[in-house]
Amino acid sequence: MKSLANARHIAHLFDVRTPILNEKDTKMTTKTIVLLFPAMLAGITSATGMSDPPPRAAADTAGPIQQHRVLATLWMKHAAEVRALQYQAFNLARMRLDQELAKPRTGKKPAVIVDVDETVLDTSAFQAALAAGNQEFPAGWRKWISSAQATAVPGSLAFLQHAADSGVAVFYVTNRREPMKDGTLRNLAALGFPSAKEAHILCKTKTSDKAPRREAVARSHRILLLIGDNLNDFDAAFLGKNTAERAAAVDRRREAFGSRFIILPNAMYGHWESAFYGYDWSLTPAQRSVIRLRLLRGSATGE
Ligand SMILES: [Mg+2]
Repeated sequence: MKSLANARHIAHLFDVRTPILNEKDTKMTTKTIVLLFPAMLAGITSATGMSDPPPRAAADTAGPIQQHRVLATLWMKHAAEVRALQYQAFNLARMRLDQELAKPRTGKKPAVIVDVDETVLDTSAFQAALAAGNQEFPAGWRKWISSAQATAVPGSLAFLQHAADSGVAVFYVTNRREPMKDGTLRNLAALGFPSAKEAHILCKTKTSDKAPRREAVARSHRILLLIGDNLNDFDAAFLGKNTAERAAAVDRRREAFGSRFIILPNAMYGHWESAFYGYDWSLTPAQRSVIRLRLLRGSATGE
């Protein structure tokens, strides 16, 4: 109960009602963020009961709503291990594709379905800007997409070019919304991705569930592989499930990973995080912070 009281205390300290900071705060420089880190860390340790709570003024100034994203974002942006995982995923995808194409088949044209963000387009620069500016998604997202500045995820371009050269149709199934389609197509085309055209990119309309869009592709094509960074890129069975249910659903499909499903790393965001909050993004940053800290403590004690 003491830990819960501490969690409530930290929630009160960091009760940021609006996730987007005012104009002055959005101009916070990276240097400023670094200078504020001690205060932000003090806030975290206070939640564990390891030190006195920070002065109210420090909490108000630091507003650590994005502090928790720093290491994950740096890992995705700079860790060579991530590049290795991405190459590994697309090397495996190519191996599996070639195996499938070697089987005698007639009928529908073969196809692969890929997700966009953190699968073929690397948005870690955008995520880094969010964290450095202490802003929350989707601040600036639409504008960033329009700028078509995402880079290709290592290995993705060569794989999809190989697929296209092998007579395999490429479809991009993304939860970017329809108004973002133009910027997405321009970005994919500028990088040289195949099938960067209207009919081959299926954006989010009413639902985040990608199953209906996969089924639409399956009506005219034989889908060989699904490639993505989020379990929703593979099967609707994962949608809206809690953390334990997601793990169990993965276990039940263990044979599919590395076979029909090729998954890429993404520590920056995803349904894995949404599941922590019961998919309720109306929770305040402070409430989400409390949930994460509670989960962390539970992880440490095996609860
Ligand atoms: Mg993605």
